Amino acid sequence: MHIGSNSYTMNDSLRHQGLRKRLVEALRIKGIKDAKVLEAIGRVPRHLFMESTFIQFAYKDQAFPIGAGQTISQPYTVAFQTQLLEVKKNDKVLEIGTGSGYQAAVLLEMGAKVYTIERQKELFVKTQALLPTIGYHPKFFLGDGYKGLPTYGPFDKIIVTAGAPSVPHELKKQLKINGKMVIPVGRDDRQEMFVITRLSDDEFKTEKYGSFVFVPLLKGVVNN
Ligand code: SAH
Repeated sequence: MHIGSNSYTMNDSLRHQGLRKRLVEALRIKGIKDAKVLEAIGRVPRHLFMESTFIQFAYKDQAFPIGAGQTISQPYTVAFQTQLLEVKKNDKVLEIGTGSGYQAAVLLEMGAKVYTIERQKELFVKTQALLPTIGYHPKFFLGDGYKGLPTYGPFDKIIVTAGAPSVPHELKKQLKINGKMVIPVGRDDRQEMFVITRLSDDEFKTEKYGSFVFVPLLKGVVNN
C-alpha cells in the first residue's frame, strides 16, 4: 500500500466504508452504546493504519500485528476504552502507547487534543510520518509512558493502551481533579480494565470493568 502521494479519499473506497459500517454494527451488538464513539470509529479508515493490504483484516473485530512485536488493538477494545474515557470536545488527552496511531485517530475524531507517547522508535517514526498524511495531528513523543509528560500536564484524561503491572504513580499525578485514567492492570497475559478518577489532590476512586488482553507496558525507550 502506498500512502502519502495519494489522497485520503482515494485510499478510502466505498468498499472500505461499507465494511466499516458493518464493523460499527458489530460493536453496537457487542454492547458499545456511546454514539460518539461509534461515529468516530465509523470515520477512521483503519485499513490505512495497517501494513497489510488485506482489508478484510482491517475491518474484522480483531487485533493485528503492526511490526516491532506490537499490535493495533482490537476495535472492540478501542471502543470500550474510549467509551470509559468519556471524551469531551477539547479534552486534553494523554495516550500511552501510540503504536499504529489508530486509537489516537479515534480520540481526535471525538474532538480531543491528543498527546501520544511511544517507547519504540521504529513505531514512533513510522506513525509520526503516516498520521498527518491522512489528516490526523496528535502531538507525538518518543519516551517512556511510565513517566507521562509532566511539562504538558495536567490532563483531563489519560488512556494507557498496554497492560501495566500496577497504576504508575507519575500518571496519577498528571490527572486534573475530576480527570479520568483508563488503564488495563495486571501482571500476566490478562489485565483488568481500571478507571481511576482523581477526586482531589490525594484521593482517587478506582472502578473495574472486566478482563482484556494487552501487550505489556514496558520501561525505557527502544532506539532502533
Ligand atoms: N494504541 C495503539 C495500541 C498499540 S499496542 C494503537 O491504536 O495501535 C501498545 C503500544 O504501547 C506498543 O506500540 C508498545 O510499544 C507501546 N508501549 C509499551 N510500553 C510503553 C511505554 N512504557 N511507553 C510508551 N509506549 C509503550
